[in-house]
Amino acid sequence: MIEMNGNIHRMRCVDNAHLHRWDKRVDGNIPRCDLCDSMLRPDVLFFDEFIDRQKLATIHEAVRTCDLLLIVGTPTTIYPAAGYIDIARMRGARVAVVSEDAPDTRQVGLGLFLQGKPADVLPTILIK
Ligand SMILES: [Zn+2]
Repeated sequence: MIEMNGNIHRMRCVDNAHLHRWDKRVDGNIPRCDLCDSMLRPDVLFFDEFIDRQKLATIHEAVRTCDLLLIVGTPTTIYPAAGYIDIARMRGARVAVVSEDAPDTRQVGLGLFLQGKPADVLPTILIK
């Protein structure tokens, strides 16, 4: 599994990218890294940020070699995720999308589109 847009349950320090599991509430003070005292921020991609080049290369390689591409919790109408569907399908991989949004016209022929919150849908399909 590659978390393309990050993980909201993890924090990352601004200076050194140390990762910390995050299950605390912020008490009004800026959370700090235990290792270097740098400020912590959510380890997610904000709208004005770009995906790390190394992570992007890893994702591209996975999409080019996978048998099943499962896209969860990211709009498939926005690139780069939108392009991954076509790349995987051209290579013969099956594509499944889990999204709260209604499927767009490109997704109609995917074979598997599950509409709903990923937290509700994923446990159901993983059991089957
Ligand atoms: Zn740190």
